[in-house]
Amino acid sequence: MQKKTIKDIDVDGKRVFVRVDFNVPVKNGVVTDDTRIRAALPTVCDLAGRGAKIILASHLGRPIKEKKKAEEAGNAFDPAKFSLAPVFAAFKEFAMKNAEIGEVSFAADCIGEEVRKAAAALKSGDVLLLENLRLHAEEEKNDAEFARQLASLADIYVNDAFGTAHRAHASTEGITHFVDTCVAGLLMEKELEYLGRVLEDPERPFVAILGGAKVSDKIPVIDSLIERKVDKLLIGGAMAYTFFKANGYTVGKSLVENDMLDRAKEIEERAKSAGVELILPTDHQVVDSADPLNSQRTIPIDFTNAGHVGLDIGIETAAIFSNALSGARTIVWNGPMGMFEEKPFDQGTIAVAQAVADATDNGATSIVGGGDSVAAIKQAGLESHISHISTGGGATLEFLAGDALPGVEALDSQPES
Ligand code: ADP
Ligand code: MG
Repeated sequence: MQKKTIKDIDVDGKRVFVRVDFNVPVKNGVVTDDTRIRAALPTVCDLAGRGAKIILASHLGRPIKEKKKAEEAGNAFDPAKFSLAPVFAAFKEFAMKNAEIGEVSFAADCIGEEVRKAAAALKSGDVLLLENLRLHAEEEKNDAEFARQLASLADIYVNDAFGTAHRAHASTEGITHFVDTCVAGLLMEKELEYLGRVLEDPERPFVAILGGAKVSDKIPVIDSLIERKVDKLLIGGAMAYTFFKANGYTVGKSLVENDMLDRAKEIEERAKSAGVELILPTDHQVVDSADPLNSQRTIPIDFTNAGHVGLDIGIETAAIFSNALSGARTIVWNGPMGMFEEKPFDQGTIAVAQAVADATDNGATSIVGGGDSVAAIKQAGLESHISHISTGGGATLEFLAGDALPGVEALDSQPES
């Protein structure tokens, strides 16, 4: 079902509550990566340019959980660490460069009398950023009274925070019960468009690449991709070892999930009966567990001995994977091919990233999701050669698994055409 977006509604003179994802890294009071702030600007500028009075709300970290942890450990808890004040400083810089945006201000809380006054005083084009939603435990509990208070600030609700849409929280789900008009922002729209296409009508050949540490994290996505008859399913990363072990190979001290061996066999069988070509590595980069710093080499999978730890796909596998990607029209990638944080075990991931970028340059639609996978793409400097870099981690995986996301479901649908 298509969701309504800000393009479908009139916002002139209206107070618009925009749930954004400003959950950015902050060090010593300074935002160290402003990607997410920049990603929200198209929506903010569009609304401001059309005369909306904008109220921005986000979470930052998990203050309630951290507070509990600190109390249990007898440590001091500093709520200032979870303030959006540094985010406001970074946002202000961008706001000054965008003519559509008027006055910007920061509220010391996200509910209460002061906030209500500040919201009421907004003029068209102005932006009020609220303090961290999660400083109130009610946010994650999806408390109805808290949601009602958030809703009371605005006439229209916009969700532009895809990354938290898989959670039914007060600012992503609860609030929609108290606002008449609830629509998607431009970033959310882009996520739904790209990810939706993968599930509904992928152009073929459709190739998926899955990697990362754990099979168990990715099982719903694998199941969903097989169900949608992805043409090729490439499996690398530590995840592959669970498949190898399930097939009786020696995997040494490589990462394996022993309770997933049966599931791995089942996935292989399901892929086979669905006509999905499942491709596993043929070689890998290993170290000896006894001498990890000086023993790195590439060997065929079936040369693995009890002391080996597999940390990346090998050169031959990288070539096989690249070849499988070369004619693809749709590519979905989640999970690095190896322990890419440590050189030289980034090589397989970089080779695959390059192959995805090349296929994209040749007309394929490519979608990369997952925190580490996106970091790897950035590390390889290939962001601009990917069609869509998904901003969601868990949300992207749940969406690709075919699950309904509460924060998306709660938005108004387009009339059936
Ligand atoms: P994403 O965040 O993109 O969803 P994951 O979190 O599932 O990806 O997986 C990324 C992690 O998997 C990285 O920390 C990486 O080091 C680890 N990893 C991948 N392959 C291996 C391997 N062979 N051995 C150990 N760790 C691995
Ligand atoms: Mg990760």
